Amino acid sequence: QAKLMGKNQYIFYTETMKISTHNLIKAEDDLSLALQRNEFEMYYQPQFDLHTDHVFGAEALIRWNHPEKGLVFPNDFISLAESTGKIVQLGYWVLESSIAYLAKRKDEGRPDILLHINLASEQLSDPHFVTLVKELLEKYQVPAHLIGFEITETSILEDIHLARYLLQTLKEMGICIAIDDFGTGYSSLSQLKNLPVDLLKIDRSFVMDLENDPDDRKIVEAIIAMAHKLNIKVLAEGIETREQWKMLAEFQCDFGQGYYVSKAVTADEFNQGTSVIHQD
Ligand code: C2E
Ligand code: MG
Ligand code: MG
Ligand code: MG
Repeated sequence: QAKLMGKNQYIFYTETMKISTHNLIKAEDDLSLALQRNEFEMYYQPQFDLHTDHVFGAEALIRWNHPEKGLVFPNDFISLAESTGKIVQLGYWVLESSIAYLAKRKDEGRPDILLHINLASEQLSDPHFVTLVKELLEKYQVPAHLIGFEITETSILEDIHLARYLLQTLKEMGICIAIDDFGTGYSSLSQLKNLPVDLLKIDRSFVMDLENDPDDRKIVEAIIAMAHKLNIKVLAEGIETREQWKMLAEFQCDFGQGYYVSKAVTADEFNQGTSVIHQD
C-alpha cells in the first residue's frame, strides 16, 4: 500500500518505486480528467454458490479505458488514487455506477444479485460516507441488502474503533459486510468476532496451490470451520482449476469466484450470462 511519507511527499511502493510531488500532482490531474471524460468502467466478476453452481452475486471491479494505454487495471492506479486522496471521489463514482447497475437490472426484469463493492480505507474515514450510501440507495431505489462492501483486514485495523462503529451502522442498514483478502493481513479471528462480518473472502494465495500444498489445505479448512462456527460465510477467491473448485466444495466452502469460471466482464456480458461453469 502506498503511503505519504512526511513532508517530502514521497510515496514508497512495495515495488520500491518512488514518485515525486510533481508526479503525484500529475496523477491527481490525470484521474480527475479521466473522471470528467468518463473513462472509467465497472466490470463484474460472477460469484458462485459452490454447492448449487448458481451465480448469486458479483464483485464490482473498476477498469480505466485509457485513450492511449487501452484497458488499465486497478493495480496500476488505485494506490495512486489513495495517495492523492482522489480515491474518495473515485470511490463515490464506483458506488454510484454499481448501484445504478443494480437499478438498471431491476428495470430490465433481471434477477436480483448481491453486488460486492470494494472500499478503500480512505472511504471508511470519510465522515459523509454513510449518508452518501443512503442517498444513493434512495435515489436509485435499490434495497440495501443487494449491496455488500469488501474491506481488507488491513484497512479495518487502521482504526478498529471507527471501523467497528461504521460497519455496525452499515450492517444495520442491511448491507452485507465482507472481509477481503482474508489471511494476508494481521488480523485474527478473535478480532473478527467483535466485527459485524457476514462473509470472509479467502485470499487467492491460499487457493492457488491447494492441490499440491497440504499446509494451504489445512489453513483453508481451518478458516472455513472457524468462520462457520462464528456464523460467517466463506468465499474462496482466485479459483482457477476444476480441482480447486471441487476441493473447496468438499471443504464446505460456501462460495467462489475465479478465472476457472469467469474473469470480470462488462455489464452487458454479465447480463447475457456468458459466464458458465466449465463442462470438462
Ligand atoms: P480484490 O478486491 O482482491 O479483487 C480480486 C482481484 O483478483 C481482481 O483483480 C480480479 O480480477 C482478480 N481475480 C479474480 N479471479 C482471479 C483468478 O482466478 N486468478 C487471478 N490471477 N486473479 C483473479 P483486479 O480487478 O485487477 O483488482 C485488483 C484489486 O484492485 C482488487 O483486489 C481491489 O483491491 C482493487 N480494486 C478493484 N476495483 C476497485 C474499486 O472499485 N475500488 C477500490 N477501492 N479498489 C478496487
Ligand atoms: Mg475485492
Ligand atoms: Mg480479494
Ligand atoms: Mg486480492
